[in-house]
Amino acid sequence: MKKIIFFTLLSTLLISCKSSKDTSDSELILKTSNVEKFRKSINTKDAKKHLYILASDEYEGRETSKKGQKMAAEYLANQYKKFGINGINGTDNYFQNVPIEALVNKRRTFIATDPSENVLAFIEGTEIPDEIIVVSSHYDHEGIKKGEVYHGADDNASGTTGVIEIAEAFAKAKKAGYGPKRSLLFMNFTGEERGLLGSKYYVNNPIYPLKNIVAALNIDMIGRIGKEREKDDTNYVYVIGADRLSTELHEINEKANNSSVNLELDYTYNMESDPNRFYFRSDHYNFAKNGIPIIFYFNGVHEDYHKPTDTPDKINYELLVKRTQLIFTTAWELANRKDRIKVDIIDDSSSK
Ligand SMILES: [Zn+2]
Repeated sequence: MKKIIFFTLLSTLLISCKSSKDTSDSELILKTSNVEKFRKSINTKDAKKHLYILASDEYEGRETSKKGQKMAAEYLANQYKKFGINGINGTDNYFQNVPIEALVNKRRTFIATDPSENVLAFIEGTEIPDEIIVVSSHYDHEGIKKGEVYHGADDNASGTTGVIEIAEAFAKAKKAGYGPKRSLLFMNFTGEERGLLGSKYYVNNPIYPLKNIVAALNIDMIGRIGKEREKDDTNYVYVIGADRLSTELHEINEKANNSSVNLELDYTYNMESDPNRFYFRSDHYNFAKNGIPIIFYFNGVHEDYHKPTDTPDKINYELLVKRTQLIFTTAWELANRKDRIKVDIIDDSSSK
């Protein structure tokens, strides 16, 4: 159950006479800035290239702490470097070391034998650098089981490809003189498949303070059509969590969508009664738990989910690009709008 904080509601009402101006401000950013030009730089050719590499046999299913995961981490760091995006605190180090002690799940069914890495890249804001928009994905997957590579093309080479593409678009904008007002932090987490371990480590050991994070946009599976959507219009994405902590975040995402790719935003899995409980099942939850507004973008599960057959040839690249363009547009608005979005809702659903 959500409770709207009364005073926030009241203050929203009190300033509603001026809110029409605020609204036009935010529309102005999406409509008149160069967002479209940079959004269009996100394309199927690049997406295919990244995804086929990340989900290749060579990367051995990117199991946490194993060779394939480390190859993927190197690949990500090299992309950010190539785009001219710095690593941690302006350095060329893109890795947050996640020690062995942090790589154990609750039931101790997973205990890592080697440390692992979260990958971080940072574009400093031109006007309000201390306020940060996070765009994230997990890049680990299941590894090799019984001699078969679990490619994890949709889960989650697709979301990781999305993060790379969004980072490149922001880097291009910055080079052209349209750097974001707020900072962008791109994060690729390890250990997600073993219990959201990489993101948990980050929120317990933040490099950039959690209070500075305005919102976190997390991407986990955006390259396929979920089985519950096969017979419907497939021009969709599931949006989960957007309205749990901030009314504005939900509205901005809808506006970003209307002004760009016009996907159907499907809120089925956002219902608190949803038995799948997807809101709690990927890295964004570690941020939401800390009071940070999040959006989880997701395509739903399908017959190849967590099977070796989740391969790059089955990805719908056009849809992957559209979904990525939506997330880019939402991030652009969050980064460039005049005011930081407000947290105006208390979400106590996790205590149920
Ligand atoms: Zn996943």
